[in-house]
Amino acid sequence: MAPEIHEVTAGPAVTSDGGGARVEFRGLRRAFGGTVALDGLDLTVEPGELIALLGPSGCGKTTALRVVAGFEQPDAGEVLVDGEDITRVPANRRDAGMVFQSYSLFPNLTARDNVAFGMRVRKVPAARREARAAELLALVGLPEHGGRYPHQMSGGQQQRVALARALALEPRVLLLDEPLSALDAKVRLSLREEIRRLQLTLGITTIFVTHDQEEALSMADRVAVLNAGRLEQCAAPAELYERPATPFVAEFVGTMNRLPGRMTDGSLVEVVGARLPVDGGIPGTTGEVEVLVRPENVTVTPDTGGDATVVSASFFGSVTRVLLDLPGGTTVKADLASRDAGALAPGVRARVGLAQRPVLVVPAAS
Ligand code: ATP
Repeated sequence: MAPEIHEVTAGPAVTSDGGGARVEFRGLRRAFGGTVALDGLDLTVEPGELIALLGPSGCGKTTALRVVAGFEQPDAGEVLVDGEDITRVPANRRDAGMVFQSYSLFPNLTARDNVAFGMRVRKVPAARREARAAELLALVGLPEHGGRYPHQMSGGQQQRVALARALALEPRVLLLDEPLSALDAKVRLSLREEIRRLQLTLGITTIFVTHDQEEALSMADRVAVLNAGRLEQCAAPAELYERPATPFVAEFVGTMNRLPGRMTDGSLVEVVGARLPVDGGIPGTTGEVEVLVRPENVTVTPDTGGDATVVSASFFGSVTRVLLDLPGGTTVKADLASRDAGALAPGVRARVGLAQRPVLVVPAAS
């Protein structure tokens, strides 16, 4: 992709307080022809927080980010930064730095000049800009790479330079649009940790778009799950995983079993022979339901008289995922400590149970 000028000129003259800003999305709506990208999005990002926008392709993540950056105008709704409505403020007057998926550095400028570019546009004196560019390159782990051109650097190195460039004007909001998705797995992992470290050190409010849930859960203070332009849930990673607010979040984040069950009263459900409390059940639901259960909450005991049959066992190091067929055509996934899974070869009969934890129920066949 050709480098875009606006991404490096975003931000006011160098600010000095360094604190992160509060960013509020209020009722954002944006349609492209008949496609609704944002459908009344409400979300508040607290100062210094790293929020991941997570969701399936086309759910509006990038559009939301572009609205904050000022590259996209919403049809309705507002963006507030520290309480100030910036919806109509041009991109180059916003206090935000942005990093894109592609390494959108200027190919004809060295790493140092790429980082210093925004400062040059803002007429920061040469000595100050050079010192600041060197400082930023050191901060992203490239103190020796200032003289290199983009084609002389790896993808990971180029993204570090892009990050340094986005930070050069000390923005109070950092916007990251899938910055790691073009990198190989190992580089991704190390840059993930570095971005988080840097973000915590600088205290900069960061909005990180990703479709990779592992990335979102491992990096973010809170994860905002979007679905069809709306916010489904925004919560800390563990809460999102353990207490999903909606069936969509439950099934989008992590792996989930859907097992047939029966509500016995408003708060208990019968499923694979167990009676379990329901968390966030549907008020008034009785009779047939489907029960959402995480694989790690499924227990498996080899038993020649059991009614489950092992279909497969996949070894993932410390954990083994076992697939079992239950009567009635249901398949259940169980994640077991590998040291407990040795006997569960395909064809072995077993008994399946559930850990005594609250579960989420949804209407049958929803
Ligand atoms: P992905 O993970 O695939 O990047 P996303 O969640 O970031 O997806 P957006 O890029 O925000 O999704 O797009 C949301 C919807 O709006 C999609 O259906 C997309 O095709 C549409 N869209 C986005 N930008 C435009 C545009 N400039 N013109 C027309 N349609 C657009």
